[in-house]
Amino acid sequence: MVKKPPLIWLNVMIFSLSFILAAFVAPWYGWQLGYGWEHLFWLVVCFSFCNLSITIGYHRLWSHKTFEAHWLLRLLCALGGAFALQNSALHWASDHRVHHKFVDQNEKDPYSAKRGFWYSHMGWMLRNYNQDRYSDYSNCRDLQKDKIVMWQHHYYVPLAIVMNIGVPLFLGWWYQDILGMLLIVGAVRLVLNHHTTFFINSLAHIWGKQPYTNKNTARDNGILAFFTFGEGYHNYHHIFENDYRNGIYWWQYDPSKWIIKLCAWLGLAKKLRIAPPLKIEKARAEMRLQLAQAHLSQKPQLQNMFAHVQHEFDAFIEELHEYYDIKKQLLESKANSAIKSYERSLLKIRYLQVKRRFQETKHRWTLITKQYA
Ligand SMILES: [Zn+2]
Ligand SMILES: [Zn+2]
Repeated sequence: MVKKPPLIWLNVMIFSLSFILAAFVAPWYGWQLGYGWEHLFWLVVCFSFCNLSITIGYHRLWSHKTFEAHWLLRLLCALGGAFALQNSALHWASDHRVHHKFVDQNEKDPYSAKRGFWYSHMGWMLRNYNQDRYSDYSNCRDLQKDKIVMWQHHYYVPLAIVMNIGVPLFLGWWYQDILGMLLIVGAVRLVLNHHTTFFINSLAHIWGKQPYTNKNTARDNGILAFFTFGEGYHNYHHIFENDYRNGIYWWQYDPSKWIIKLCAWLGLAKKLRIAPPLKIEKARAEMRLQLAQAHLSQKPQLQNMFAHVQHEFDAFIEELHEYYDIKKQLLESKANSAIKSYERSLLKIRYLQVKRRFQETKHRWTLITKQYA
């Protein structure tokens, strides 16, 4: 039998103690003395602050550089990240970059989902599986130039203590219920923060759909997105990790994306990066083709559909390229004053024709593959 690495007792203690306080002591205290609206209010505020600091700051800003942020936003995320008690931003981002680079490779991915639910959820933090890996944080040299990241890294322990004990203590003093606030804003909030974030490493690699790629285990899951401020669209995220959005459609629940956009309007964020729409549509179409072919290969009576589906796919891809190509030409023409207005009008007419054709082909392609994908 392979010998397991030694336990990290500090982590074991933090996870067990916070869980016991949140799951048993907090309900008992509430049953004995009751909680007020202020407890629920501050639970929601602090839970959201911590989780958004992880999704916007640790994840989309520092791990993936999907936008640039004003120092005030970075400071808030550094404080919220310490409050969420998920190690320093530098360490978190370093782990996460390795996760993306070697996703599902059990020996390299620090929280590989292929090692099972428990390991990817929190087992990987309970034992010294990744010893000495991050002594130099060489995959985060860019972050080492960020003064706020390094300040938080150096003072992580005192910051984590001030946020996790100091904030509930202050609220307890303010509302005259120190124990109640320590239990709700301290323990319950922390346990909720921990497990909702951990679900992205575990459940979001197990439960949900794979509309963009099946080259890794990541899944899109609207329910997980709801509890994780938009991070549940993990299949999209693993293929287009440099996109500041995780849910790309307006109807997908991604408050982290909405807040980054709001910050951009307020001047707190800039250079928001998105994946090229052509690449996104292509990835989706390729996945649909794969699913349709897998489905048809199991039904010999539908063999004649094979060529038809392939033909529609080829037509869709051709129209897709043509559409985005002419769209680009039109945009460039608007920026180029040397182009005469009648030339631009002709381009616009051609663009509208191509667009209509593209929409028809897309509609046909969606109808054909709908039953399989
Ligand atoms: Zn990521
Ligand atoms: Zn992942």
